[in-house]
Amino acid sequence: MAVKKLHATAADRKEANRLACIKYRERHKEKIKKAQKKYREENKEKLRVNALAIYYNKKAAGTWNPKPRNKEKNRLTARLYVRAHAEKYKAHCHKRRALLKGENGSYTKSDVHELLKLQNYKCAYCKTSIRKTRHIDHIIPLSKGGNNSRKNIQLTCPDCNRRKSAKDPSDYARQCGLLI
Ligand SMILES: [Zn+2]
Repeated sequence: MAVKKLHATAADRKEANRLACIKYRERHKEKIKKAQKKYREENKEKLRVNALAIYYNKKAAGTWNPKPRNKEKNRLTARLYVRAHAEKYKAHCHKRRALLKGENGSYTKSDVHELLKLQNYKCAYCKTSIRKTRHIDHIIPLSKGGNNSRKNIQLTCPDCNRRKSAKDPSDYARQCGLLI
């Protein structure tokens, strides 16, 4: 039978305790993470006030030394986000523009997917495939009083969208030989 070795000095006991703590944290990683998250959620206001107090105290003492922000990394993260959420981002941009212009209406990501199926994955004007890349076009341009609702959008290839830009839809369709 192994006899538990007694720690000779206080320093030994301290070191043994430290190692035991590390092992405990390693074994219960998930549990600890969950508890910390719960605590943060339940004490949001308190933590916010504490963080602010630390900030103001350090600022007043001249010891405020935040981590430098990594501009390049942040920019990359933003770019990756936009790429991964292209439809959502486009919907957001259009909504914002429409809001800025004081117009109402909005469409969702699923509206775009529905439209895509309805248009058979083809540009509304020239019928090129828009499976890979597409633009969301306002049938009546925002600048001509169109709104930002599902009923006023169609999907086009990037070329048609650029060429049409803020033209009247029937003018542009005529140019494409679509309407008389
Ligand atoms: Zn086109």
